[in-house]
Amino acid sequence: MTARIRPDLAAIAPYVPGRNVPGAIKLASNETTPGPLPGVLAAIAEAATGINRYPDNGAVALREALAARLGVDANRIATGCGSVSLCQELVQIVAGAGDEVVYAWRSFEAYPVVVKVAGATPVEVPLTAEFAHDLDAMLAAVTDRTRMIIVCNPNNPTGGAFGNDVLARFLDAVPSHILVVLDEAYIEYTRPGDYDGTEHPDGVALAEGRPNVVVLRTFSKAYGLAGVRVGYAVADPAIISALSKVHVPFSVSTLAQAAAIASLEAADELLARTDRLVVERARVRDALLAVGYEVPRSGGNFLWMPLGDQAAAYSAASTEAGVLLRAYDVDGVRVTLGDPAENDAFLAFATGAGLDIW
Ligand code: PMP
Repeated sequence: MTARIRPDLAAIAPYVPGRNVPGAIKLASNETTPGPLPGVLAAIAEAATGINRYPDNGAVALREALAARLGVDANRIATGCGSVSLCQELVQIVAGAGDEVVYAWRSFEAYPVVVKVAGATPVEVPLTAEFAHDLDAMLAAVTDRTRMIIVCNPNNPTGGAFGNDVLARFLDAVPSHILVVLDEAYIEYTRPGDYDGTEHPDGVALAEGRPNVVVLRTFSKAYGLAGVRVGYAVADPAIISALSKVHVPFSVSTLAQAAAIASLEAADELLARTDRLVVERARVRDALLAVGYEVPRSGGNFLWMPLGDQAAAYSAASTEAGVLLRAYDVDGVRVTLGDPAENDAFLAFATGAGLDIW
């Protein structure tokens, strides 16, 4: 007989990542196409000589490098095995059975998983007609049982984003015992004109002086380290200290810590890549708009096509054409921006097939 498994897990669907088909162009997982910098590879190789020992569980050198870059104390920073694991840990420190976690929907697919696995109840607030968070409706969804609110800024998969002026008004309206998570996985791709509001989004500045606000960032996107798994949280030291209790020991590997430190040292070069991606984002969006697609503006490294119940068929057809996209139920399809040749391959499919068939 198999062991008894928590009965509530039966109703939880596991996170399903973007597919990988050998030989296909993969624009399905919001990864970066350019490979690691030689200096980052060298740092990983050097760190590899010590992998007979456990990693530094406190990630002291990495947290100090982050602290210096962000201008905050290292005791306001926690690292994790990707920012998704920090998101899971954050739910664990505030919510359990009977508690509610509010987030927008559609948004990052891991949110319902981490909330339900903690035993808490997801409260999903529909996006606006412009595919952005409905911040007023999210405030209205707060109850006595709300323990956490997640704001994905910019929102994956739809791209909508808010500036700090808009977010500050929202945060000031949230009761201060509720933890607010600002998930900024894509913030390095956000440029003026990509967001509602006037002040550039920067959750780290918003979290300063607001002890109930946590910022999540990752090395997986702009820093190109999706495969080594490292992300970080910036928050009040009391939150960081609570996170250390639910943290899986040693879950940020020696190689991940070394790669992240080397990437911070090469930040200028890596962030220059985001400038090139933003140029491609505008080019691809303009080409899609020109043939009649609806494509909301995006502050991330991806674009959203609200194709409704055609999403699955569209993504199946693009796979046939050798380009992997991410389809979301009956909502739409997300395309990650790759390099110009990859984007051209996508556009050849998207504009060539004749939009009228979708
Ligand atoms: N947040 C958002 C909004 C994401 O889209 C992703 C990755 N797809 C993550 C967090 C997690 O990133 P990672 O765990 O690789 O840091």
